[in-house]
Amino acid sequence: MEKNSRAQRWSLAGMTALVTGGTKGIGHAIVEELAGLGASVHTCSRNEAELKKCLQEWADMNLVVTGSVCDVSSRAERERLMERVSSIFQGKLTILINNAGTGIVKPALDCTAEEYSYLMATNLESSFHLSQMAHPLLKASGRGSIVFISSLAGVVAIKNMSIYSATKGAINQLTKNFACEWAEDNIRTNCIAPGPITTPLMKPSFEDEEFKAKELSRIPLGRVGETEEVAPLAAFLCMPVASYINGQIICVDGGRCIFDS
Ligand code: NDP
Repeated sequence: MEKNSRAQRWSLAGMTALVTGGTKGIGHAIVEELAGLGASVHTCSRNEAELKKCLQEWADMNLVVTGSVCDVSSRAERERLMERVSSIFQGKLTILINNAGTGIVKPALDCTAEEYSYLMATNLESSFHLSQMAHPLLKASGRGSIVFISSLAGVVAIKNMSIYSATKGAINQLTKNFACEWAEDNIRTNCIAPGPITTPLMKPSFEDEEFKAKELSRIPLGRVGETEEVAPLAAFLCMPVASYINGQIICVDGGRCIFDS
């Protein structure tokens, strides 16, 4: 193990990162956290105008962030994204944050084949394939770190979220498999499973007063979380100080998953 100073062990200085889905919500907070701690970050999203706006704001904050328009549900677009990342970071990537994802809230019996394929491609296949393609770059860095963003819904059964939950449960399992398979390449793999966090994705659910009241009653801290309360864990997991943490799924949920309400 490297013996660095405390400041070096709690820093991301000199590291390179790809954060998918960085223009909104949890991904946006992670981009700012990683870049603020010294990493050079590349991010992506589907909306070019929003991406450009974010890149300008980050440049104004003196954060080193670049971006690509990419729909992670498309294999060809994922390949183009990884080529760009490899070129920008000269073949070495320290951090991959598989964050981009979406959800559909519907009873299982009403879900269509198209919805199933769309969620699998966006949440699960993209995370698997991007990790596969990032592997040689992470290995080349000598200290690679993958962080998946799964969900509380991949840990407990949340009503009307069967396909979403299946993608997140599978991501939890990938965390363990990659953590074992790629440890010999000095790549650690961990996963954050957030509970309800205030983001554009969750806005419609939180506008449903009945859902919100029920959720709040199940959270010991009695409130939903903020994106800034998730991002620091992603940064921590990638720091040298976390060098012995591998294969873990950590819920950031105000205690929701351990509460016998
Ligand atoms: P948001 O919808 O608020 O933000 C998602 C981000 O990802 C946006 O930047 C969006 O940009 C981008 N994105 C979405 N789909 C794609 C795609 N196909 N290709 C590229 N970029 C994409 O979501 P959250 O921040 O809430 O969620 C982030 C992650 O956290 C997801 O994986 C989600 O499942 C997980 N999560 C969220 C929880 C919450 O309560 N918010 C709870 C548990 C897990 P654009 O639309 O322009 O492409």
